[in-house]
Amino acid sequence: MSVSRRDFLERSAALAAAGFIPRLPDGGFLPGPAAPVDVGSGVFRGRPVVISSANGIRGVKVAFDKMANGEDPLDAAIAGVNIEELDPNNQSVGFGGLPNEEGIVQLDASCMHGPTRRAGSVGCIEDIATPSLVAKAVMDYTDHIMLVGPGAKKFALAMGFKEQNLLTEKSRQDWMRWKSRLNKNDAWLDHDEDIKIKFTTGTINMNAVTSAGDIGSVTTTSGMSWKISGRVGDSPIIGAGQYCDNTVGAAGSTGRGEANIKVCGAFLAVEFMRQGMTPEQSLLQVVERVIAMTEKRLLDERGRPYFDLDFYAVTKDGRYAGVSCFEGSRFAVCDEQGARLETSAYLFKASERPKARAN
Ligand code: ASP
Repeated sequence: MSVSRRDFLERSAALAAAGFIPRLPDGGFLPGPAAPVDVGSGVFRGRPVVISSANGIRGVKVAFDKMANGEDPLDAAIAGVNIEELDPNNQSVGFGGLPNEEGIVQLDASCMHGPTRRAGSVGCIEDIATPSLVAKAVMDYTDHIMLVGPGAKKFALAMGFKEQNLLTEKSRQDWMRWKSRLNKNDAWLDHDEDIKIKFTTGTINMNAVTSAGDIGSVTTTSGMSWKISGRVGDSPIIGAGQYCDNTVGAAGSTGRGEANIKVCGAFLAVEFMRQGMTPEQSLLQVVERVIAMTEKRLLDERGRPYFDLDFYAVTKDGRYAGVSCFEGSRFAVCDEQGARLETSAYLFKASERPKARAN
């Protein structure tokens, strides 16, 4: 299923030589065949599937079962991520998510509904455990796409969402340990215990396709832990954290949002798939683009990133892939064979990962 960068380049070159994918001299691709799936007839029969970041392994099953019962793909995917948003033990999303540098949990989420070509998003929302549902409410009930900060919370409360303190004791303790180590000369005692949780910790992106080829996509996160108050990552940005075009497919991302925002990675992946690339080829091209657009301080001397970034993509006819900067990532899939983790393709071998982080 997965390929290394070298395999990918060799395979692409072979395909190009065979005339299937015209390559540009700079390694880019010319527009290839139109959308891989003919949607004109209205009698599309595809392969239903739900894919997500690995931490959505419970959710992909829930989403798939809901679709099997005839539920809408976006409603199904949101139900899948809700499990994790509401789980206090998942420190990357919703209730229990790691806070910002001030100890406040600020959440981001976005979603898209393929069949109706609509999108919704919230950024920096506080005190509401299920930002994915608030993003959907923005989509369903307003003429806007994105609400942020206090306005997003006010809207959620007006829509009947419950206000609650999202900072669990575990996340509060992690935040205090991080805070105590900020400056050796301050009056806080340095804690010996390791902080197991680094800057980026998770996020769930989930993409669902029905047998009719209808698509829904959602991404939800507490964002980078210890972030500056007000920081918004890629997750709520339509086209970066997730994107869905019902005629082509969907894609989304987890990892360093700052790196993804600059290339609009989810949108770019869908555009590559529209040109005829497979999900895996598309995502490898996106990761290459991310690295090409990364500032020097975040790359080692051989151009390998100090950060992690993962992408996931699915086509309207149910083909899918996960791709990561480095070997070792997995992603969750559920189809008629059940839920499982599969290995992501990658650009660099695990042994090539730079030792030090720049941030
Ligand atoms: N992409 C998320 C963000 O940048 C973080 C993550 O996935 O870990 O907010």
